[in-house]
Amino acid sequence: MSNTQKTLSIIKPDAVQRNLTEEIKSIFKKNDFEITSEKKIKISKEEAEKFYIVHQTKPFYEDLCNYLSSGPIVVMILSKENAVLANRELMGATNPEDAKEGTIRKKYGLSIDKNSVHGSDSEENAKKEIDFFFNN
Ligand code: UDP
Ligand code: MG
Repeated sequence: MSNTQKTLSIIKPDAVQRNLTEEIKSIFKKNDFEITSEKKIKISKEEAEKFYIVHQTKPFYEDLCNYLSSGPIVVMILSKENAVLANRELMGATNPEDAKEGTIRKKYGLSIDKNSVHGSDSEENAKKEIDFFFNN
């Protein structure tokens, strides 16, 4: 049975700043993701805090929110069979040092915080995150 899903992807400030947007988009397309919506925006610290609210008790929360709001980001809706998991696999581990060869974070990530991309981690969160950026 087919299971086409949507997931939210963000090209983070470190990658947008290094002009990697087109390169990263081409990786998604090569891996059969359809980019159904896309926008380049800059969010406020308050918006970043809302987006990453699940991490509010973590020691890195403050830095993370400052970082995500520090420069332009590209937010995209990706569509594909099992898109949520497929995107997590293509992104690679949170820490680029641990990410597998061929993954986006292995290729482009600079550090555990500047790891170039975000991807929803479940179908439920994908819906919430897509809503957060596109349905208002
Ligand atoms: N992060 C960080 N330090 C850590 C763990 C995470 O700066 O020790 C940042 C990193 O940018 C990561 C984001 O917080 O992408 C969200 O963390 P999560 O554990 O959800 O990782 P992800 O789902 O992005 O792989
Ligand atoms: Mg996460």
